[in-house]
Amino acid sequence: MSFSMSCLFLSSAIKRAQAAWLWRGRRDFAASVAIPPTMVDSKNHFFARRPMPLDTLLFAAPATLAVTLVAALLGLLIGSFLNVVVHRLPIMTQREIDNYLAERDGKEWPHKEKFNLMTPRSRCPHCGHGITALENIPVVSWLVLRGRCSACKAPISARYPIVELVTAGLTALVVWTFGSGWAGLASMVFAWLLIAMTLIDYDVKELPDDLTYPLLWLGLLVNLNGTFVPLRDAVIGAMAGYLALWSVYWLFKLVTGKEGMGYGDFKLLAALGAWMGWAMLPTIIILSSAVGAVVGICLIVFAGRSRDYKIPFGPYLAGAGMIALLYGLPLTRYAQGFLLP
Ligand SMILES: [Zn+2]
Repeated sequence: MSFSMSCLFLSSAIKRAQAAWLWRGRRDFAASVAIPPTMVDSKNHFFARRPMPLDTLLFAAPATLAVTLVAALLGLLIGSFLNVVVHRLPIMTQREIDNYLAERDGKEWPHKEKFNLMTPRSRCPHCGHGITALENIPVVSWLVLRGRCSACKAPISARYPIVELVTAGLTALVVWTFGSGWAGLASMVFAWLLIAMTLIDYDVKELPDDLTYPLLWLGLLVNLNGTFVPLRDAVIGAMAGYLALWSVYWLFKLVTGKEGMGYGDFKLLAALGAWMGWAMLPTIIILSSAVGAVVGICLIVFAGRSRDYKIPFGPYLAGAGMIALLYGLPLTRYAQGFLLP
């Protein structure tokens, strides 16, 4: 066989292996979003015997408009809750650390009053006016109050309604894409956790373990029956995700003496690996680096930030994770078409 013949042979073999891998991914994906056979066939199934609204809400096929609209409404409410989580979780962590240090040193706890996601009630930071239920309707209240506190007229940040709208949009998008079966329900939680992490990392430059670990365990759990990828791929994905960034961190630190990212980033990529499997990790890393580089250069050029300005990596990882969950397979296929013509 001549050299060019063997090249041709090798290239077609690679292409066939790739096609088999992508087809397997598509088949698993199709199986994960399909309506379970029990819903269609069995006369004895709980929902089949008693038709009720829940029947149409759960296990709807992708691209079901009514269910997507319900998901958007749910997203608005969750977005409102995420605003609370983003504001309070870092404070709760800091209080725990303060109390722990005080106890270790035999001093009194500096923070004794109860402070969690539920108590105390939300108040205006300027005048202490307690926010009523009517003033707490997602987006609507902010518009009716024209972005001002009802008591002291101090401005309320537009970030709150924007977070609510973005959460509603992403919740609707994943339900539109995956339907409202297990894949869709799990993806909603995936999106919510990523939104919370993005904002907290942006605010305090930290990815809390209270969010990264649950995302990791949840990724392994949803893939127990191969919802997105086989469990084997998920476990290897979690380990490879952590090790990939951990190695980059130490290499960067040894060469430059600086810290490029934090341990929270390793845990987040581990979680993304648990959700989408090791095979998706290169796509996620390339996507996040690309977005990160573009935003970073824009900040240096247009906003006059110094080159040493620390940009948190978490939001880019989270954004890449969201894109990869929704469009990872077609993107990877497209990229492979470029690299292996
Ligand atoms: Zn006020």
